[in-house]
Amino acid sequence: MVWDAPRVAQALTVEREAGYPNLQGRQYRFAEFLQEQMRQVPPDWLPQGVINQWQVLLAELHHYPHLTSDQREALLARIARLIPQVHPPEAPTRRVPTSPPLTANTPISSLDVLKPQQKKCLYALGLTTLGEVLNYYPRSYVDYSQRLPIKDLAAGQTVTIIAQIRSFRCFTSPKNPQLTIAEWWVADRSGRLKINRYYMGKRYANKAWQEQQKRLYTPGVLVAISGLVKETQFSKTLTEPQVQIIDEEPESVGKIIPVYALRGDLKASAVRQAIHGVLPLVQSWPDPLPAAVKKQYRLVDLATAYQGIHAPRYAEEWQRARTRLVFDELFYLQLGFLQRRQHQRRQPSPRLLPEGQLVQKFRSQLPFALTGAQERVVQEILQDLQRPQPMQRLLQGDVGSGKTVVAVMAMLAAVEAGYQVALMAPTEVLAEQHYQKLLEWLTPLHLPVELLTGSTKTSQRRQILAQLATGEIPILVGTHALIQEDVHFQRLGLVIIDEQHRFGVGQRSLLQQKGMAPHVLTMTATPIPRTLALTIHGDLDVSQIDELPPGRKPIKTSIFSASQRHFAYDLIRREIAQGRQAYIILPLVEESDKLAAKAAVAEYQKLKEMTFKGCRLGLLHGRQSPAEKDAALRAFRDGETQILVATTVVEVGVDVPNATVILIENAERFGLAQLHQLRGRVGRGSHPSYCLLITQGKGEDTQQRLQVLTQSQDGFFIAEMDLRLRGPGEILGTRQAGLPDLALASLIEDQEILATARQAAEQLVEQDPELAQYPQLQAELRQRLERLTGQVVLS
Ligand code: ADP
Ligand code: MG
Repeated sequence: MVWDAPRVAQALTVEREAGYPNLQGRQYRFAEFLQEQMRQVPPDWLPQGVINQWQVLLAELHHYPHLTSDQREALLARIARLIPQVHPPEAPTRRVPTSPPLTANTPISSLDVLKPQQKKCLYALGLTTLGEVLNYYPRSYVDYSQRLPIKDLAAGQTVTIIAQIRSFRCFTSPKNPQLTIAEWWVADRSGRLKINRYYMGKRYANKAWQEQQKRLYTPGVLVAISGLVKETQFSKTLTEPQVQIIDEEPESVGKIIPVYALRGDLKASAVRQAIHGVLPLVQSWPDPLPAAVKKQYRLVDLATAYQGIHAPRYAEEWQRARTRLVFDELFYLQLGFLQRRQHQRRQPSPRLLPEGQLVQKFRSQLPFALTGAQERVVQEILQDLQRPQPMQRLLQGDVGSGKTVVAVMAMLAAVEAGYQVALMAPTEVLAEQHYQKLLEWLTPLHLPVELLTGSTKTSQRRQILAQLATGEIPILVGTHALIQEDVHFQRLGLVIIDEQHRFGVGQRSLLQQKGMAPHVLTMTATPIPRTLALTIHGDLDVSQIDELPPGRKPIKTSIFSASQRHFAYDLIRREIAQGRQAYIILPLVEESDKLAAKAAVAEYQKLKEMTFKGCRLGLLHGRQSPAEKDAALRAFRDGETQILVATTVVEVGVDVPNATVILIENAERFGLAQLHQLRGRVGRGSHPSYCLLITQGKGEDTQQRLQVLTQSQDGFFIAEMDLRLRGPGEILGTRQAGLPDLALASLIEDQEILATARQAAEQLVEQDPELAQYPQLQAELRQRLERLTGQVVLS
């Protein structure tokens, strides 16, 4: 959203004429819309004296739903008076250039350097402005200087050859419709070579796809092929070859040839020439990055970077160009985060006391002492709570590291200062369990706690909502039910979100908006490296509990193949005979899937009637009603059932200390971090515990991946391995985390640049929060954020 004065004026008129009912729009209610709009106004669009007033009015708008219509009228009148004062700052005056200066938005249609044919080619790639062309980075490069002639290939080397296509075939195996084979014969001056690629899957059997391949690889086309040389009895070939069309030997580009993604029938050489056609224009490209930043971090300027990414002459040139462009991607993102944080910090928020009586009482009744790490984190949080700016803190801690106790201490500090607290968990099972724990801990302190979930009865819900609005309920635990529109707090001062990675950005901020700039503590047991956490949650502070409570024994973890399953079952029987309990986790499937629920029931029947005949089994899966789930968990917790057959609904939080074995079917389908979470269901008591991973996959990577779990119990280490093995997108759900797709940057490989970009952004914002001295930078930032917010929600 951007500030849209006419729309705001119209909304105000409509609301006024309707008699101030807080109208429901397509997406927002009136007050929400107005707040969103007012937040969009950068401080430098307002006269100095008005900035504060603007913030105050914005804060008052939070309460709009609770105001009488007279109060609403008064508030809107005050806002309406300020609106005419919103003006974008005057653009710095410039000498009028003879021809309009080139910018990223210059349409390529106006560029004389390009031939009509080249323009057509760029359009075919979907590129219409100069900026789009410059940001169409090569997909890869062929290093001409590293090429080997075909006759010199030796087994075991990874090489690149450049050769001409002699012939090409592409066909689906007559015996196996899943298998499609592509076969190239290529030649250079020194010899000939045959290479094959194998494609698995029905979609390659498609005739149209195969025809398209044949059109691409016509005889005479020049290709670069890289891969590992393999030597058989009769011939040499490359395994898993990468084939890139380069079309013809470029003369002037140097030894490194950029390879661009193609579309339709475009020729690689034509695309290369069209893109390179704009490079001469970039010689004096304006660079919004302050010179001091470039100097401090040894970054090349933007013109050099564009030149170097599109037409590098040698590897270092490309490397420096890439570093600069990756820096930019991360730097602007950080700058945006930090500015937003500054903004949030300006909102006054409840100031809570240091360790008061409640916190101390709670401490003295705990049956254990806090670990050093818990103690440190509690202090960090309590300090945050005493500041006048809202806390925005992420608490990372391994499964079982005791995050809940820490959260409770923060809650008590808030309650003691007269505020309400909301604790939101991703599943009913977990919310229910938190609720039980809080009842146990807080009833002795005479503090009422309530639970609100999707299955709370209507009458009870009504009562809870009423008591919430009057402030009679100080602590509310729940699921997504907490963010429904009709849930109103009297004085919400602290919001705690457990297993925060399970929530979308929007859901988190919805809960926040129920208070007046409340403090926010988010918790996760899927820790990620600190620099990465800062990027993704760029406006949060990060605390870590990096120590487990004493006495925890490592969970003995072993991997079994399906045929060894009976060993695992024997172990479960042994444990049960000794009075312990076990989980059996079914293969990972879509939680909401009906078929999966059916399969779960069938498997449960089989285990109950055959494998574990005579034992007491329970079943828990995602399609059960909340009451059934609750009954299943309760029975397990109370020891009435000995084995709980479950889907991943038990993944987070479930705490039954007498359970000592967890068996996980099809372990290869799970991510490591998730397996580690599941494993955390056992090892919670004093008995030795076991985690049994059953796999169907024999693949080397499967084994290697699962080995990580048998070797380590450290969630931080496991999470990092998981990130490296599967990539961040998969694990973090970058989309959901509010992180845009980055063109060049890799969140794993570029952590160093990330750290520099963060530092540079921090320095800059500290020294000049509104970037007043850097109008170009400011403009670039605004443009980039607009492009990004078109893509993701950034707040
Ligand atoms: P998580 O960080 O996974 O949410 P919990 O907060 O559920 O972990 O804590 C796991 C278990 O450890 C709970 O039963 C809790 O009461 C217990 N616990 C927490 N802190 C300590 C401590 N310092 N010493 C001993 N037990 C603790
Ligand atoms: Mg927890």
